[in-house]
Amino acid sequence: MAHTHPELPYSNDALAPHISAETLDYHHGKHHAGYVNKLNAALETKPDLAALSLEDLVKRGASSGVFNNAAQHFNHSFYWNSLSPSGGGAPTGAIADAINSTWGSFDAFKEAFTSEAGTHFGSGWAWLVKDASGNLSVTSTHDAGCPLTDGLTPILTCDVWEHAYYIDYRNARPSYLAAWWELVNWDFANANL
Ligand code: FE
Repeated sequence: MAHTHPELPYSNDALAPHISAETLDYHHGKHHAGYVNKLNAALETKPDLAALSLEDLVKRGASSGVFNNAAQHFNHSFYWNSLSPSGGGAPTGAIADAINSTWGSFDAFKEAFTSEAGTHFGSGWAWLVKDASGNLSVTSTHDAGCPLTDGLTPILTCDVWEHAYYIDYRNARPSYLAAWWELVNWDFANANL
């Protein structure tokens, strides 16, 4: 089964001024596309893996031999949906209740997530995740790492690879994180909860 590079769920200028069309042209059109192309090329030599869904490939972890490209495909697809032109602001619905019961307030959660994303060393991802008991937590993964591999359910993600923000914010990851909060898609978070 060839994996498909998904279209962005909005136009490439829809996240501006927080994330520019140029960033999305490179990040979605070059980086994400490259992971999908490399994944499909690698699977041509691994027919035993070709029938697996993307999620099942990621759950196999490094033993599959295609983990980095598979997980980067999953992570980026998840990231585009974690953002929305009509996102931002405070959460609503079940995710708001779950955040308040876990962290005490939205502001406390925002501080915890921003700290995780801001202090993550090097390339990787910050996540809001749910464990098998339904408990929420904030975590981060290195490089292509994905919570699916650890049996966790992703709720939201923020890509903290420099390619996510270097065009718009150069080395200022905190400015990019502030932009992420202006775009965070609470409808997607509620759907994943
Ligand atoms: Fe990325």
